[in-house]
Amino acid sequence: MAFLAQPTAMFAPAKPPMGMLSADPDTREALALFAANVADRAVLLTDLDGKILFSNNGAERLFRYDPQDLVGRDIATLLRGDAGQPRQHDERAMQFATVRFETCCRRIDHGMFDADVTITPIPGVDRRPKGFGYSIFDISDRKAAERKLAESEAHMRSVLATVPDAMVVIDARGRIQSFSAAAERLFGYCEREVVGSNVNILMPLDHRARHDAYISRYLRTGQQRVIGNGRIVVARRKDGSEFPMELSVGEAKSGNGRIFTGFIRDLSDKQRAELRVRELQDELIHVSRLSAMGTMASTLAHELNQPLTAIAAYLAAAYRLIPEQARDGARVGEAMDAAGREAVRAGDIVRRLRTFVARGENERHVEPLVPLIEDASRLALTGTRECGVRTFYRFDPAADQIFADRVQVQQVLVNLIRNAVDAMGGAAITDLTIATRLDGEMIRISVIDTGSGLRSDQIPRLFEAFETTKPDGLGLGLSISRTIVEAHGGRIWAEPGAIAGSAFHFTLPTAPPVGKS
Ligand code: ADP
Repeated sequence: MAFLAQPTAMFAPAKPPMGMLSADPDTREALALFAANVADRAVLLTDLDGKILFSNNGAERLFRYDPQDLVGRDIATLLRGDAGQPRQHDERAMQFATVRFETCCRRIDHGMFDADVTITPIPGVDRRPKGFGYSIFDISDRKAAERKLAESEAHMRSVLATVPDAMVVIDARGRIQSFSAAAERLFGYCEREVVGSNVNILMPLDHRARHDAYISRYLRTGQQRVIGNGRIVVARRKDGSEFPMELSVGEAKSGNGRIFTGFIRDLSDKQRAELRVRELQDELIHVSRLSAMGTMASTLAHELNQPLTAIAAYLAAAYRLIPEQARDGARVGEAMDAAGREAVRAGDIVRRLRTFVARGENERHVEPLVPLIEDASRLALTGTRECGVRTFYRFDPAADQIFADRVQVQQVLVNLIRNAVDAMGGAAITDLTIATRLDGEMIRISVIDTGSGLRSDQIPRLFEAFETTKPDGLGLGLSISRTIVEAHGGRIWAEPGAIAGSAFHFTLPTAPPVGKS
């Protein structure tokens, strides 16, 4: 008890500031006992040099020293950093009465813990401090939680900085709380410009008022529109330009109420690509109608030409066979002659039709080959990825341009690629290869598949119209392709694939024929 009694005896102030210290010896002893037994913090008293004069049970628990080993020790050995650190605080304590700070403390085993330290000067006779009271509280748990929070915040920030989709977090009033790096790139605002602003600044002017109404209706009724469902909306950049985006919103309850996180995917590129595919499809549909009509006309012309020629010949022969006197003043003869001339004229019309079809609406230019093939395969392969078709490109760098009608050549490629994909339906390996090769003045383009392959009896009639093995096929694709390729001065043919499937090749000129542009 002598040890416990020591601090109160030594630190009895000349002019006690509070009732407790002016209390009678019993109360003082009780107070000393109380201080000694406080277990949730270390209570230490030092002299002006920092020598420990008193330590309590809490100090023993915190620093793991035997009580008698703490007394007489320099307080600096318990605190982190240079030994001067507590002195600086002591000096401040002399001027400002009480100093409170957070630091690390050292146990007897040199293990460190985070601590909240309060230093209170103990007034002496002349009101100058004659020592200091330390109250040291272990805050490791709180610090660990803070560190964890900071880590998860840093993690969150790094996620926000790297997620490819833009993320915008808003509170229940629609005020922006955070704005990811991708959102900064997408909208052209930086985070500090928008935090605190109404999220409707990211929307076209005519949507703004409606958005405020959406939020308040949701908060009132719980009726969800966007939350939980993705939807396509229009957004507005800082520069006022607008773009389509896919928005999904998640909701969470936070300490300060509800927050909503919007995940935003810019659809401009996707929509541009879709638009491009649609444009290509329109062009191709137009050309394929023309070509289908052309092929029909060409087939009809071919089929009709023979009977028409025969009719003309029979009429001429019949006319000659009628005896001259029976020609009845030329009336029968005139009729037969006229019928014969009409048959010849009909023959001419079909021949002209064939010539027109062969020429077609053919607009040839020097075209870069690779983008042309890429566009055509994108178009032909739309929707085939689900069928597992793998596409390989083998482009000859020397085969970089063709002289051709771009849309017509794309039509040939689309026909060949779609046939290849059809032929691979159900095949174990579904590999499609599109290759180019410079071959003198011509470029050879090959579409090679690993599908069902061709029967040898099929090959001679493959490019004829209406030859098909498909239940819903028209048998016009290859015949149209041949018309187009031949109109360009090229050749088209098919052969069995190296291992399985088939290979279709066609050639096109690299440059306009000499003398034409
Ligand atoms: P369609 O596709 O309407 O049948 P096409 O003229 O494009 O008309 O093709 C004619 C036929 O040629 C097809 O029905 C098919 O039997 C055969 N064919 C075309 N391409 C291939 C291929 N890559 N592999 C196997 N058979 C093919």
